[in-house]
Amino acid sequence: ARSGSLLEAEQLTVGYGAAPVLRDVGLTVAQGSITAVLGANGAGKTTLLRTLSGLLRPTAGRVVLDGQDLRGVKVEQMVRRGVAHVPEGRGVVTELTVDENLRLGGLWRHDRADAKRALDEVYELFEPLARRRRFPGHQLSGGERQMLALGRALVGRPRLLLLDEPSLGLAPRVTAQIMGLLRTLRDRTGLTVLLVEQNVRSALSVADTGIVMSLGRVVANADAATLRDDEDMRHAYLGF
Ligand code: ATP
Repeated sequence: ARSGSLLEAEQLTVGYGAAPVLRDVGLTVAQGSITAVLGANGAGKTTLLRTLSGLLRPTAGRVVLDGQDLRGVKVEQMVRRGVAHVPEGRGVVTELTVDENLRLGGLWRHDRADAKRALDEVYELFEPLARRRRFPGHQLSGGERQMLALGRALVGRPRLLLLDEPSLGLAPRVTAQIMGLLRTLRDRTGLTVLLVEQNVRSALSVADTGIVMSLGRVVANADAATLRDDEDMRHAYLGF
């Protein structure tokens, strides 16, 4: 493994049935970086995230976290290795309160004292959640649910956060808030983030690096500013 890289994927081929959805996908994610995964609907972004978090198994290639091959590591062990996946649609348990949802994120942890500290930090970070501790999930707005899903992941103190479309359905102001928060977390704690986004502008505004996917392949991998300024790239793949 190259020094400074937390996650590497090598020549991944992944599919749900006969035809592969990802073909020969490779990437390197630096420790403490924010990477935007971009590309049109159906490009394979969600499939990539699900493969990196262990939900899907590649038929070829491998994923390496901290120099360790993840082949054979069970999904439920991934969280203990510091990988948190916040799927599209968020997965908030709507019957449970905000507080209960957040505590779910730390149930597996042996260090109870630190789980409590992490919970308090999430409340500090997400003031709307602190005000709604006892509210059931179904009474939250879309933005609050997104914060809750993110907060629940953070209670587990992940090293790598895999976020699928956090801005989906959110007002621009809330999206900007969440993007700003990712920066804060990275700066404060060295968190590494992989962010799938349809909202290319906001993703590139927060990311250091961008990976552009098309039809299951990586067609560009460059720093965010380079992608932003590349007119051909923008027209061909990024739609702005
Ligand atoms: P979107 O932004 O629409 O989620 P995406 O870039 O995340 O797009 P994926 O969701 O990874 O793309 O889908 C890539 C391809 O895999 C698509 O052609 C899709 O139809 C197919 N696919 C996704 N999930 C499944 C599944 N569970 N079973 C079969 N095919 C699937």
